[in-house]
Amino acid sequence: MSRVFNFGAGPAALPEEVLRQAAEEMLDWQGSGMSVMEMSHRGKEFMGIAAQAEADLRELLAVPANYKILFMQGGAIALNAIIPMNLLGDKKTADYVITGSWTVKSYKEAKKYCAPHIAAGSLEGPFFAVPPAPTFQLSADPAYLFICTNETIDGVEFHELPDMASIGRPDLPLVADLSSNILSRPIDVSKYGLIFGGAQKNIGPAGLTLAIIRDDLLDRALPVCPSAFEFKTVAAFDSMYNTPPTYSIYIASLVFQWLKRQGGLAAMEARNIAKAELLYGYLDSTDFYATKVEKAFRSRMNVPFFLKDESLNEAFLAGAKEAGLLQLKGHKSVGGMRASIYNAMPLAGVQALVGYMQEFERAYG
Ligand SMILES: *Cc1c(COP(=O)(O)O)cnc(C)c1O
Repeated sequence: MSRVFNFGAGPAALPEEVLRQAAEEMLDWQGSGMSVMEMSHRGKEFMGIAAQAEADLRELLAVPANYKILFMQGGAIALNAIIPMNLLGDKKTADYVITGSWTVKSYKEAKKYCAPHIAAGSLEGPFFAVPPAPTFQLSADPAYLFICTNETIDGVEFHELPDMASIGRPDLPLVADLSSNILSRPIDVSKYGLIFGGAQKNIGPAGLTLAIIRDDLLDRALPVCPSAFEFKTVAAFDSMYNTPPTYSIYIASLVFQWLKRQGGLAAMEARNIAKAELLYGYLDSTDFYATKVEKAFRSRMNVPFFLKDESLNEAFLAGAKEAGLLQLKGHKSVGGMRASIYNAMPLAGVQALVGYMQEFERAYG
């Protein structure tokens, strides 16, 4: 068996240790005689797995006691609708900071439920930077301020959060899509009203969607909101109002335990910085490749880059595949290449990528 280095943006690589453990436990989870896939979500085995997953996640992210952790479905795209349905209450608008393709989508979806307002950025881009908080033009009475902390497609990351007090709105809930950088670094959950993300980038398999919400925001849903997507209902039933994505939660629980064994999020951040510095450092050292995102906002997770001579793109990708470096093709809206280097990508994978890029440059430069 040979495993490749998978640079896909999502669904993305998982830690090999986690996959091995899942394989070992596939037919008989810890003497139960069943696969986790076959268990009742209300049985004591699975309830135990879910409770441990929640406890480990709470510990990793230092989630305060007044926040609920919800295991949901539908992905971040569904949450783009579920969030306004849950948080608008009697307000008519919500504010959006547009930093890339994902916030464009979030803003457009919100239009079905309210008259959202663009507080900063533009739908047309270009998406090479995060607008500074003092330039935000907030509306008079928004229900929340929406950001995406890491734009997976454009490779733009918030390395500092907008400080709601410094922009004069200490009570405005900050809502953030963390699909592609959750668990890549420590965060201060208390700075947010709600954070959410699909699992398939940095948590586990597709099918699980995480939401972490402050208690006081649970009670604002519009009557039209489906019960299975009402945060209050999901919270009241400990994420078991409907059948949760049990196997995805189980794999996520193995990832949380793996993260704890790695030393937690501060240790992951140090590794992620080292990986990103290696790749960006090389990109900055040569004219053969180029990047576009401004240095201060470069994503540590998703690195879009371009060959100066784009006629070499196909040859670059073919050679990469031969070298066991897969899924490097950029998103079609951006073009070029993109290396996604989430938690599960070891430093050795980035070293192999940079080695290949140097070799390709020597051959074609
Ligand atoms: C992948 C991604 C999404 C979409 O997730 P789905 O699971 O397809 O709904 C939304 N936002 C961000 C930041 C993402 O990376």
